[in-house]
Amino acid sequence: MDNLRHRQNPFYRRVKKSDAVLKCDICSEEIYPFELVHNIDGKIICPDCFFDFTFDYFSDRLFLASELRGNTYDTY
Ligand SMILES: [Zn+2]
Repeated sequence: MDNLRHRQNPFYRRVKKSDAVLKCDICSEEIYPFELVHNIDGKIICPDCFFDFTFDYFSDRLFLASELRGNTYDTY
């Protein structure tokens, strides 16, 4: 699968599919030696999946603002 991340990378045209060194644990996209990836709790996360992964990862720390401000909307 080709995506924006790969097309923007000037090294992409020089590699073959067999040059991939990792796969993203979320989308299974192949990851090449020159690409940046996150290693979070042992999971390999590509840049395309990073936002969704971290949103879910920190979901236990996600609150409505009113929950943290005691339901008062007129004061800070
Ligand atoms: Zn991914």
